[in-house]
Amino acid sequence: MTLRPWRNRYLVFGAPSIGDEERREVAACIDSGWLGSGPRVARFERAFGDYVGVADTVAVNSGTAALHLALRALRLDPGDEVITSAMTFCATANAIVHAGLTPVLVDCARDTQNLDPDAVAARIGPRTRALVPVHFAGRPCDMARLTALADRHALRIVEDCAHAIESTIDGRHCGTFGDFGCFSFYVTKNVTTVEGGMLTCRDAASAGTIRTAALHGMSKDAWHRYGDDGFVHYEVEEPGFKYNLTDLAASFGIHQLARIDASWERRHALWTFYVQALGHLPLVLPAPTPANVRHGLHLFTCLVDDARTSRTRDEVVAGLHALRIGAGVHYRPVHLHGWYRRTYGYAEGDFPNAEHIGARTFSLPLSPAVTDEDAADVVRALEAVLA
Ligand SMILES: *Cc1c(COP(=O)(O)O)cnc(C)c1O
Repeated sequence: MTLRPWRNRYLVFGAPSIGDEERREVAACIDSGWLGSGPRVARFERAFGDYVGVADTVAVNSGTAALHLALRALRLDPGDEVITSAMTFCATANAIVHAGLTPVLVDCARDTQNLDPDAVAARIGPRTRALVPVHFAGRPCDMARLTALADRHALRIVEDCAHAIESTIDGRHCGTFGDFGCFSFYVTKNVTTVEGGMLTCRDAASAGTIRTAALHGMSKDAWHRYGDDGFVHYEVEEPGFKYNLTDLAASFGIHQLARIDASWERRHALWTFYVQALGHLPLVLPAPTPANVRHGLHLFTCLVDDARTSRTRDEVVAGLHALRIGAGVHYRPVHLHGWYRRTYGYAEGDFPNAEHIGARTFSLPLSPAVTDEDAADVVRALEAVLA
């Protein structure tokens, strides 16, 4: 295919939308002389808890750190099994491994791309101890069925809410159904602190344990040691990690969160535009959302419909790139990555739905930084690439 680019500017996939409020807060943070973990992190934790509707939140420096701390906090035995979806970012499974546990992957549903409760039920065995549902692309998992399974089999639940900051089921936020909710503020996510994450915790005691583990296992953090109350000694309660968020990062998060509804509305407008403008192309568009859930609208994932086009996904993504449109691939399934194949013996054919999606999926630019003109260019580019 010969594709002639007409755009001057490359449309970067997942470009964040950073406002003057963030710029001013970052400058104020620098001028305050306190850049590390301190009062701005505390403010961000409270604001995030208010938004999601939980009292106990702990800010950390990535979503992966949040998952790692949550899984460790379950205090399971080494090698205990944790079930998660084959259709997720590698960090979900990697965190299970780093917590000393065994990831047991199961297939996702073809339409929702979410963990399939039937596949979960079929894989629960004598060593299964926990589930990690991933609210994929921002679409909430079937938490009624997953929590019923967890209750029946005495399983813990850690929700991977990296895509699901705004997602709710019957008005209740994702991240409040399980023992822990783990959120990411990576640059492409719906709220960004450049790098960062947050845990929502069921109770104050588990939040306290997590907070200690997130900062070397020390009993008092730096703000409480060097702050204006005077010096106090700390005690190491356990060998912890270096996972604390900085005030500089929280300066972004505070104002990103304040604009969260406006950002969601903007993505909703783009989403609605894509759905109506792409219907004539050989693509499978995201499944409709049931009336009782709020989709977080993190990723607009399309599948190349190979019954109607001979173009492959990689050709479509390369074609968009040639036309100066950045697209994402979320994701090639976890079980087909080398380490997971070698370590657990996974192979092609294990999870047909995850493989079907993984071979055909690509994601369109959906950040609030995308203009109407950009979105029209995305459609025009897809028409050219799929012609
Ligand atoms: C982004 C992401 C993570 C990890 O978050 P980081 O902040 O990048 O560490 C985990 N799970 C999923 C599904 C993600 O998309």
